[in-house]
Order: sequence, then C-alpha cells, then structure tokens
Amino acid sequence: MTAADVISAEQRYLLQTYARPEFVIERGEGCYLYDSEGRRYLDCVAGIAVNALGYGDPDVARAIRDHANGLIHLSNLYHSRPAVELAQTLVNHTSWADRVFFCNSGAEAVEGALKFSRRYARDIHGEGKTTIVAFSGSFHGRTMGAVAVTAREKYRQPFEPVMPGVRFIPFNDSAAAAAAITDDVCGVIVEPIQGEGGLSVATPEFLRALRERCDAVDALLIFDEIQCGIGRTGTLWAHEPYGVAPDLMTIAKPLGGGLPIGAILMRQKVAQAIHTGDHGTTFGGGPFVTAVAQTVFRKIADPTFLAHVREVGDYLGEALADLQAARPNVVLEVRGRGLMRGVVINGSSSAVREAAHNEGLLIATAGDDVLRLVPPLILTRAQVDEAIEKLTRALDAAS
Ligand SMILES: *Cc1c(COP(=O)(O)O)cnc(C)c1O
Repeated sequence: MTAADVISAEQRYLLQTYARPEFVIERGEGCYLYDSEGRRYLDCVAGIAVNALGYGDPDVARAIRDHANGLIHLSNLYHSRPAVELAQTLVNHTSWADRVFFCNSGAEAVEGALKFSRRYARDIHGEGKTTIVAFSGSFHGRTMGAVAVTAREKYRQPFEPVMPGVRFIPFNDSAAAAAAITDDVCGVIVEPIQGEGGLSVATPEFLRALRERCDAVDALLIFDEIQCGIGRTGTLWAHEPYGVAPDLMTIAKPLGGGLPIGAILMRQKVAQAIHTGDHGTTFGGGPFVTAVAQTVFRKIADPTFLAHVREVGDYLGEALADLQAARPNVVLEVRGRGLMRGVVINGSSSAVREAAHNEGLLIATAGDDVLRLVPPLILTRAQVDEAIEKLTRALDAAS
C-alpha cells in the first residue's frame, strides 16, 4: 500500500471518528517521527502523552523481547509474578497508596475508581450516598461512566442517558466545592493538571479545600493522573508538590511504554470495602504488559530522570513565556508544568496544528484555542529550541 492508498482505505474502512492529517508515519527514533516521504517531525504529542521514553528505547525493546515468549496472557484467575511486582513498585513509590487494581486503559481506570467510590460509600454508609462531583474543563475518558464526569457537552450529550448522579462545579472554585461536596457525595474526581480540557493547573488552595470537604463528609477524593502522572510534570506524581494526597488515583497513558495498561491506586480503607467478585477484567494486569511497564516505570521514577524532566520542562516554560512576550497578540497565556504545557492562542488551535505539520512539528490541541505540548520526557534543550522555532513559524503562518 502506498501512503495515498492508506489514506483512501482509511476513509473507506475505518470509522470516521478522527480527522487525520494527510501523511502516514512509518518510523520513529527518539523524539522524531518520519513519514512515508521521509519527512521528519519533532514529536510534541508523544502518542498523547504516552511515549514518555520516545521511540526505540533499548530497555523497553529488551523488556519486550525478554517477555515475548510464552506468557503473554494468563487471566486474573491465577497468581502471576509481574503484576504483583509492578503493584509493589507502584505502592512503594506512592506515599499514601496501599493497593493496586490493573486494567487496560484510562477510561477503564476511571470506571473502576467511580465504582469503588460507590461501593465504599454503600459498604460504610448504606444507601443514598452515590453522588460524584466533577469539574468544568475535566476529561476522564469515553466510556459511559467516564463521559458522565467529563465536562464537555459534545462528548456527553449525544450519548445520554449516561451514568446519573454527577454534579459539576467550576474548577479551582473552593467555595463552590465546599457547597457541593455534601453528605450525599461518595466521590470527587479531579485532574491536578487538566489535560484535554485546556491545561489548567489546580491551585494548592483548591486541592486542600477538596481534601478537607471530602474528609468532612467521608467522600473519596480521586486524582486522575492518567495524563499528568508518571513524571510528566517533573515530579513522579503531579499532586506531590501540593502536599495533598487522594484516596484513589487513576493512571494509564505512559505506564506501558505504548502497550495498553491502566491502574487504580488506593488506600487500604477503600480496598477494605471491595470484596472478591466485586470487579474484574480479562486482560488487566497481564504478565507481558506488566513486565514491560515495570521497566518503563522504573526508568521514569529514577530521580536523575525526573531531574531532567524538571530542567527541560522549566526551560520549555521559559521559552513559551518568551514567545508570549514576543507575540502578545497571538499567544494569550501559557499554562501547565514540566513537559505538559498549554498555549492559549488568539485563533484556531487546529489551524496552528496544521501549520506546524508543514514545519515538521507535531503538536496537539486541548480545545478550540489551546495548543498542547506533551513531548517525550527525553526531550532535550536543543529540541525545545527547535520546537519553539517551528511553533513560531507555524503561528505566523496561521495568523
Ligand atoms: C486520556 C485520559 C483519559 C482516558 O484514557 P483512555 O486510555 O483514552 O481511555 C482519562 N483521563 C485523563 C486525564 C486522560 O488524559
């Protein structure tokens, strides 16, 4: 198949849920992708914050080779070493967490966390404590429970009725949170740094207020770190610098080095309310994917690696602030932390994204007027310079 054949067959055979650009990526190396014409792109999307170690990491390749023979899948009916070892590693790296449930994606981790919140409330408090509080600008996935707690109407409204019992309040509004988190609430789900919704960063006061209100009514606080977790912001967990800990945390995107895996971390008090047979999965926590994830997680959790993310992330933040100073009418605001950055523009984010493709730069969007940069965490300072040069040209071309 030529690239043109791939593009026309895509239009004929794949469900048209994505608007893809007119090139076909064939190869990746480090932070670069190459299309069928040999054009090179600096990748600031990383498979939507998944490919934290870039393309062709030798340790990931070795882990895949080492575990490719035999036990790819076993099911959760039997004990298996890699899943237990990964759970132990995750718990040891997370001060407040005691146990882990593995699944296959972000949305599935969110579904599990919502179910566990309802289960906990019913176990401890009986009937009637079933409301989930979620926030403006949130994104938690595309399944019926996850869209029910996702703010954007477009993702939710066409599929109604979705899961009932959700109360939305404004993000970073502590007073609204205090009023909304009442005795009927079993769970509060929040992204410490919002991803798809526009890269807004939670204020310390807001997360503290959520923690206090959840404690007051014994609601479970769920941090969705599917996008912002695992080193993305320069600390292993995005919530670490806040000094506020949740009761449950969902993770997924980068954990498997590109293989599908999600996980829910939880405190013992939550785990105690979940009983044999309450929840399950066929594929979740399989030996192959958890063995590879162990390699990925250990590499990212290394303090030297995290120090690199902080350094390059700060550098990217400064470079974007300089860009805003140089183009104040085009760049309205820079958001985010570490290597998770949003650029609010005066114009169409998809137009700038297309223009960036022409410059050899892949960027994502987060809404109609926010550009999103979530590059591989191995990005270098020189590559930040390259990204800013290309982005500047794309902004000029699109405006
Ligand atoms: C991507 C994402 C999800 C959904 O993950 P999927 O693997 O696409 O189901 C949920 N929450 C956040 C914060 C995400 O970024």
